[in-house]
Amino acid sequence: MTSVEADWDRAPSLVDGAMSVELTPRRANLRYWLQAVPQGTLLGRPDGHDPALSVPEFMREPGPLRDALRAEYAFRSVAEEKATRALSYLVAIAPDTDTLEFYATQVLDEARHAMVFRNHLLSLGVPEDNLWQAIEAFAGADVHAVLDPLEELGLKVMRDDADFLGGVVLMTIVIEGALAPAAELSERKWRPLDPAAAEIDRGAGIDEIRHLTVGAAIAKQCLEERPGEKDRVLDLIRRGMHLWTVLPVQDLVLRREVLFQRGLEQHAAVVGDYEIWPGRRLVDTTPEERTATAERWSAEMKASRLAYIGLEEAL
Ligand code: FE
Ligand code: FE
Repeated sequence: MTSVEADWDRAPSLVDGAMSVELTPRRANLRYWLQAVPQGTLLGRPDGHDPALSVPEFMREPGPLRDALRAEYAFRSVAEEKATRALSYLVAIAPDTDTLEFYATQVLDEARHAMVFRNHLLSLGVPEDNLWQAIEAFAGADVHAVLDPLEELGLKVMRDDADFLGGVVLMTIVIEGALAPAAELSERKWRPLDPAAAEIDRGAGIDEIRHLTVGAAIAKQCLEERPGEKDRVLDLIRRGMHLWTVLPVQDLVLRREVLFQRGLEQHAAVVGDYEIWPGRRLVDTTPEERTATAERWSAEMKASRLAYIGLEEAL
């Protein structure tokens, strides 16, 4: 018996779920997670996807499609690893049992995401003994340009300042909140080309619904108890959002989509009439259209989550 929001077949999409599901840390405790995730979402999918799905041969051959997925998954694997490490500081300073248990489960979720993205690189033909050098080669420059500064801010708040509320808000609004729509785009665009990758994204997306909604519920509750913290938190959000505007994120995302586009054109026959969203064939989309859509989702999700927490002034 699983909860709908963590059920492989019945859970909403990440973008819809993050805006419609309400989940509190009281409910999403360790016991909930044990049933909903290891015995729910992950049942039969220890590698994040149905083991019967294998990577199509054309995804393993040199070319823009393979380059696009390798760069994306290498980057995301490092992002997840950084999240795992940073979030462990929230476990250490969690103010009560519910939040301690929730963040302990999120640490495991993120470590698992790092694992499944990293392992999929092996499925794409990267030799195992050379994996870390390969990750650096595929994504190192983007990791240093984008993830390192975000990590630095996260560690300052969670580790150095031991600021629990600040860390929760930073993860929910600034870091995961901003990365989530790219994950949904990824699931939709890889579906016809690499169904195992799409399942990995789907599973991570189901986890992300929980991270975003529970994180928002924790922030809302903390702020209700301590309204005097609001200005400080608003200031932190603005600092985080400013960071996104100066980091070369748009450039990175667009570069990835341009590579994907070249691969898409080469393999248009495989994609056929598959629709990336209702009424729109993937083969008819452009890199600009896909990135603009993800950006629109991101803005909608952020506005909805900020309003829920009671921080709409941040916009
Ligand atoms: Fe994750
Ligand atoms: Fe997450």
